[in-house]
Amino acid sequence: MVCPACRGPLDAELTCRSCGIAGARFGNQLRFAGFADEELRTDPLNRLKEVAKRRFGRLYPTAINVLSPVLTTRFIKPFLRSFDLDRELVADLGSGTHRRDPRILCVDGASYDEVDIVTDLSSLPIADDTLSGAISIAVLEHVTDLQAHLTEYRRVLRPGGRLLCYVPFIVPFHASPSDYQRYTRVGLAEQFHGYEVLSVKVGAGPTSGMLWVLQEWLAMLLSFGSARLYRILVPLTWVLSPLKLLDLLLARHPAAEVIASGFVIEVRKP
Ligand SMILES: [Zn+2]
Repeated sequence: MVCPACRGPLDAELTCRSCGIAGARFGNQLRFAGFADEELRTDPLNRLKEVAKRRFGRLYPTAINVLSPVLTTRFIKPFLRSFDLDRELVADLGSGTHRRDPRILCVDGASYDEVDIVTDLSSLPIADDTLSGAISIAVLEHVTDLQAHLTEYRRVLRPGGRLLCYVPFIVPFHASPSDYQRYTRVGLAEQFHGYEVLSVKVGAGPTSGMLWVLQEWLAMLLSFGSARLYRILVPLTWVLSPLKLLDLLLARHPAAEVIASGFVIEVRKP
């Protein structure tokens, strides 16, 4: 580990000898800079999500898998299986309340119980050329400075190390703590400077893209201008979410990328 600000060495107390920046230990969790609680609570819907994430912890991702209008294709497990996790260090950058494998390093801006290192993802307390792999699942739409993040991830990957990113395309605005951008399949591949692009695929299909937008649209149509009624109606529209199973077929359609809900890109550090 290194200082997230100046990359100098840290002492046993997690304090940087060069610039004085200090991390702190909370049980097994190491905390550097992360999100302030207020930042995670400005958007009303995200405030609700934060309460649910803190209360339900590891059950939260399961609940989202069931209720969400988005059905992702299988890409995380095959990627993780391509590493020997007993020997190779792989990080989940923006892990939230997920712990996809006990051997994975969980890094996030928020201090959920499952997180190993709490830090700003664009300045990681990880030494150069450390990671064999990293995943970033539905995180990069939430950062203002995409290039700063991708440059930082490349720094901590070892040469030949691989990064897997899932980034949405057709999805409504969703704050976490905010939401800044979308990419087409070709647009996404253009962002990874200094990496070798191995593949860009549909990561969630057209039904998922259509459904989430439809749910928001229905809640707006039926709430007659009332923000309160809209917030009550949104969860009721989740009754339509099982239609996402149509993406088991449609995500493979040759035209799926036109309105795909998201793309998954795998890149390698040369
Ligand atoms: Zn320092």
